[in-house]
Amino acid sequence: MSILSDLKELLLPRLCPVCGKLLMQGEDVMCAFCAIQLPRHRITAIDDNLLLRIIWDKADVRRATTFLAYNHFSPYHNLVIQFKFHGKSDLAFRLGTWAAMEAQRQGFWEGVEALVPVPLTWLRRFKRGYNQAEMIAQGMSEVTGLPVVNLLKRTKNRKPQSRLKGEARLKNAEDIYRATIPDEWRGKRLVLVDDVMTTGATLANCAIALQKEDKNAEICIFPLCYAG
Ligand SMILES: [Zn+2]
Repeated sequence: MSILSDLKELLLPRLCPVCGKLLMQGEDVMCAFCAIQLPRHRITAIDDNLLLRIIWDKADVRRATTFLAYNHFSPYHNLVIQFKFHGKSDLAFRLGTWAAMEAQRQGFWEGVEALVPVPLTWLRRFKRGYNQAEMIAQGMSEVTGLPVVNLLKRTKNRKPQSRLKGEARLKNAEDIYRATIPDEWRGKRLVLVDDVMTTGATLANCAIALQKEDKNAEICIFPLCYAG
């Protein structure tokens, strides 16, 4: 096994997705330097912050936090590109564990009973081989011990949200999520997990779909990155 992994290393050297340098032994998904310099958001109030004030216009959400500041012009932007478009599901998982540890210090997990990933359409899920939001949630689950439950379905293939702006984005996201909640998950505090929050339309619509199905569901949101 170790000969195989040594051989793989030799043939396919592992590179840091941020700076492009060769990863050293013991460095997991990025180099230590880039890991230390991660552009973190450092949310201090989980029940009143920028993310909540954006989403409160649209949906009833109890708590919010995030881990990274997403900036299109920063080399860290490549982290999202790698786990979304280049098959690096392990990177999404690892970032999920780091995000969960930070949130633990904020008391974010208190009373939470399950993690609910924002879904992809079945076609996109099939093409990518995984849902990156679910991989992030699996990473969070490793730290918190919380179950990952798929309560949402994306019902229609519409234009990708990244190509739309403002109102058009909110309109596009309306009614495309549907929740099915078994009795064991009713009336619970659930955390919606996604990769990047921009206008909050996707997370708001997922929260609305969950509460339409169960008015006693208490929704919290945890996008890995916030593009504010
Ligand atoms: Zn690096």
